[in-house]
Parts: sequence; structure tokens; C-alpha cells
Amino acid sequence: MARTKVVIVGAGFGGLAAAKALRNTPASVVLIDRTNHHLFEPLLYQVATSVLTPGQIASPIRAIFRRQKNATVILGEVTGVDKDKKCVFFSDADRENVPIPYDYLVLATGVTQSYFGHNEFAQYAPGLKTLVDAVAVRNKVLQAFEQAEAEEDPSRHRDLLTFILVGAGPTGVEMAAALAVLVRSTLQSEFRRIDPARARVVLVDMAPRVLPTFSEDLSTAAKERLQKLGVEVRLGHSVDLIDADGIIVAGERIFSKTVIWTAGVAPSPAGKWLNVDTDRAGRVRVQPDLTVPAHPEIFVVGDTASLDQNGKPLPGVAQVALQQGRYAGKLIHSHIVGGSTPKPFKYFDKGNMAVVGKGFAVLQTGKIHLSGFSAWLAWAAVHLEFLTTSSLRVSVFVQWVWTYVTGQRGSRLIVNHHGSDKGTRSAAAPLGTVAVTK
Ligand SMILES: Cc1cc2nc3c(=O)[nH]c(=O)nc-3n(C[C@H](O)[C@H](O)[C@H](O)COP(=O)(O)OP(=O)(O)OC[C@H]3O[C@@H](n4cnc5c(N)ncnc54)[C@H](O)[C@@H]3O)c2cc1C
Repeated sequence: MARTKVVIVGAGFGGLAAAKALRNTPASVVLIDRTNHHLFEPLLYQVATSVLTPGQIASPIRAIFRRQKNATVILGEVTGVDKDKKCVFFSDADRENVPIPYDYLVLATGVTQSYFGHNEFAQYAPGLKTLVDAVAVRNKVLQAFEQAEAEEDPSRHRDLLTFILVGAGPTGVEMAAALAVLVRSTLQSEFRRIDPARARVVLVDMAPRVLPTFSEDLSTAAKERLQKLGVEVRLGHSVDLIDADGIIVAGERIFSKTVIWTAGVAPSPAGKWLNVDTDRAGRVRVQPDLTVPAHPEIFVVGDTASLDQNGKPLPGVAQVALQQGRYAGKLIHSHIVGGSTPKPFKYFDKGNMAVVGKGFAVLQTGKIHLSGFSAWLAWAAVHLEFLTTSSLRVSVFVQWVWTYVTGQRGSRLIVNHHGSDKGTRSAAAPLGTVAVTK
């Protein structure tokens, strides 16, 4: 008899947990992702600010499942689902809309960047969602310092050495603090014509406080810490415009060549593929067992799913995705082997954390609110624990200790990933002149 086929789309936190929960299930598990790696998104900002290398926060999916004999990994982009024929379609390097049949389907396709209807901002303000994004931001930041050092006209230094983060949630706060530490410590002794410590780091948000999902006391602690690091925090106004010259906020133009978008996300098109009810943001409304109505064989988990608990929607965080993925895997296992059915999904909230520069974090779990070094130690321990492999844990731990003690970063290379080296030196520029990227 043919084995039951479970197709999982997305090898992020949710998809990976679902696949692992099926390791002892007599089923064939097919895991499809458009990248060949599982990415630890919470540390993306450390790649963008040169602390870690891309290889320290991502692992090949194939390597993670090398011992799970019932799991097959496919590199491909899923483009649709046919609920009636029970198959998903994917495209790869040379084929389009290849069907893969399933008996059970788990969609764990996460979110993408959202510019709140202003897609024209995207070309000037890259986001931070993938490894390619993180390396692009790292290139942009390091390139700005190189250009400023080479630039004779000091009036251009102002734009080059102003870094703007749009969005003061955890990513914006962590990134702003890490940039402030980078410019005031690591880079300080290496430039001769400019003073990197004079660089401006500006954090902008329309919300009245930073880290709005944290309690007010922790928001205040984070804001004070940012200001101590020299970050300009501008709250209460949305950005009116982002263009090649910088941003306009509350009618004021802030000139900058490096604007980074950390403000918003939109779910994957899973709701459209399934043609089912979604919430206002476009996330698929799932039932308490994480399936979609009338389809007990289709599960949606993680950031792309919408489920209320205690009257509030569950947040788009790694723990929710992980616990939901594990739950979906266990439920499918019990359907296949005929075991007891788990109770409806219930999220166990282990708390919230955000790091604000070297040796300082805020932590909120239940009634415990902590800020400072002890919270930072807890943050470091939890992040190490959740990295996918032991080798990454060791490598990241060693790098963090090294960076903490010496101030030196793991990777400060400017790497052009899109085949373009123009900007470092133009072929047309006469020998002896330096061509500066616009
Ligand atoms: C910069 C950043 C910092 C964060 N910091 C924290 C933090 O500190 N703490 C925390 O709890 N959470 C944090 N989060 C949120 C957390 O990472 C997400 O909640 C979590 O990754 C959601 O897991 P997921 O499985 O739903 O989606 P993801 O982990 O995003 O995985 C989705 C997967 O689906 C794949 N995929 C998408 N579309 C397709 C398709 N069409 N075909 C094939 N594959 C596809 C993607 O390649 C990806 O591998 C952060 C997120 C970001 C971006």
C-alpha cells in the first residue's frame, strides 16, 4: 500500500518543527522551500551589522534532515494549491507549476516585507527578511563609510553618514543599537579622513513608544539605552516619503543614503492559494486545531496563520510558529497511526526579549520585567539554545565572546551578490581617479 504523503511548504520555524514531529511517522514527508536553508531570522540584524556571517545563522535544510529517512527536501517555489485534487504546484530553476500530490498539507510560508501600500519605498529602503537582504544592508552600510572616506567634499559626508531605521519594533531597535555600537567602537580607529563616531543613527516610528509590544517600563528603558548609545529616536510621526535623498518625516527632510525598512510585514499568499477566509492582514484564519474549515487535511501554521487566544491574535514570533508546527506534526501523526487526538492548540508564551546594544536587553515574561545585563545574558542563552545545530551554537558563542571582548566583528566584507562590482571602481574612470557610487 502506498505510504501516506505529507507535504510541508516552508522550512522556517513552523515547517521545520512539523517535519521533525513526523520523524517516527510511517509517512513520506516532502519539505519544499524556495531557499536551501533554514534561517534563524532573529539574528539577521547581526549579519546586517557585521557581527555574524550568513553561515552562522542559517543551515542547509538537507543537512538538518540527513538522518530523517522519511523526509525528502525539494528546492522550489510553491505557486499554488489545488484543494480538490489535493496537490501543490512548485516551480524550480527550469520547470514551472510541477504538481506534487498530498494526503496532508502543512503551509508554513511566513511573511514578506510590507511597505503599507508604498511599494515605491522599496527601492530606497531595503527590508530585513532574508539572508540576501541582510548582506545587502551590510554592503550598503559599509559602502557608505568607504564612500565618505574617499569623498573630498565634506558636505556629502552628512548624507553618507546618516543611517535611518524606519520602524521601532524589535528589529528596528536591535538594528539601530547594533549600528550605533559599530560606528562608535569597531570602526572608530580605522578611518583617517572621517570620524565614524560622528555618524547619525536615526530611528523613526509613528507609534508613541519604541517596542510597543513590551510593557511601558521596558519601552522606556530601551529608549533611554538607545539615546545613551547616541541613537536619535523620533516617535509619533509616520514617514511621508522615502526617496534617493533620504526621508521626510513630520514635514522635515532628513538626508541619508542608507534607509532601512523594519516597519511592516505581509503574509505569504497562502490564503489566496487556498481561497479561504483571511484576517485583515491577509493571514489564513485557522481553526483551534490549525486546519482550515472543511479541510481537516490542510494545516496553516506560523506567521501566515491567524488564530486568537484569550481574545487576542497570536503574535508573529518564532515560538508561536515552532509550537504550531510541532502541534500540526503531532496531530497528523495521530491521524495516521490512530493514536489519541491532541487537545486544541494552546500557545505557551515564554516571554519577549529584545537586545539593545552590547550587554543590554529587555525581557518580559509573565510578571517579570528585566532590563540590563542579566536580561542580555538570558537573551544570549535563549538564542544560542534555539540555533538549529550544535556547530552553529559553538561558532556563534565564540564569535560573541570575541566581539564582546575585542569589539571586532565577524564579517566586514562588502560583497556584491548581484554580479555588479561597479561602484568600487568604474571601468570608464581614468586610472588614478576613484569612481564613487551614487
Ligand atoms: C529580522 C527579524 C527578526 C526577528 N526577531 C525575532 C525575535 O527576536 N524573536 C521572535 O520570536 N521572532 C522574531 N522574528 C519573527 C520570527 O522569525 C517569525 O515569527 C518566524 O520566523 C515565523 O516562522 P514561520 O515558520 O511562520 O516563517 P519563516 O520562518 O519566515 O519561514 C517561512 C519559510 O517559507 C519559505 N517560503 C515562503 N514562501 C514560499 C514559497 N512560495 N515556496 C516555497 N517556500 C516558501 C521561506 O523561504 C521560509 O524558509 C523576527 C523576524 C525577522 C524578519
